[in-house]
Amino acid sequence: MRQATTGLLLVVSGPAGVGKGTINAELMKRHPEIKMSVSATTRAPRPGEVNGVHYFFKTPDEFRKMIEDDAFLEYMHVFGMNYYGTPRDYVFEQLAVGNHVILEIDVNGARKVKQAFPEAIRVFIAPPSLAELRKRLEGRGTETPEQVERRTLEAYTELKDMPSCDYVIVNDDLETAVRQLEAIVVAEQCSALHNAEVINTFLGGMES
Ligand code: 5GP
Repeated sequence: MRQATTGLLLVVSGPAGVGKGTINAELMKRHPEIKMSVSATTRAPRPGEVNGVHYFFKTPDEFRKMIEDDAFLEYMHVFGMNYYGTPRDYVFEQLAVGNHVILEIDVNGARKVKQAFPEAIRVFIAPPSLAELRKRLEGRGTETPEQVERRTLEAYTELKDMPSCDYVIVNDDLETAVRQLEAIVVAEQCSALHNAEVINTFLGGMES
């Protein structure tokens, strides 16, 4: 008998610059059975971003066609400017073969996924403080000062979403945060919710 044969759907959110990408990348390096969903977006690539690796970069027309074709698990018009969406096929293919899938999406998208799939596990990555978050945004040098300002303000709104998540990780130290996310995956694999098949093996034929 194998434990939890279907993969876990992990939805990781948190303000821009909090380090969720780094934590997820490190976890995937250690666990090849954990995969990252690559979102589609209409925003322009940042320096160093590769099509198909960081995002699938789309024109607004291409993105709208994908919406019409029902190709998204969820999609969102973020910051009133760009579209972002999670292509549905990849996620279900990976879950079906027992891999775990991480969606690194904004809190509104995360809420939509949790509504549609209550078994999804929501993890919020919080900064040690808002001052530290601003420092990290400035430090990565990919945003203009106006964008840093807007994203710091945006973080206030996103932090309000913490109580509706299943888990909260404060990213003070990378190694600790990676281990905490790893522990969540291990614990969830043992949860009764994700072991219906195992439970059924024992109780399926029993009278209540
Ligand atoms: P960025 O432009 O910095 O890559 O991402 C901006 C925001 O969009 C982040 O909060 C990121 O998590 C979110 N995002 C990225 N992909 C998706 C997606 O597929 N769906 C939703 N709802 N949000 C996304």
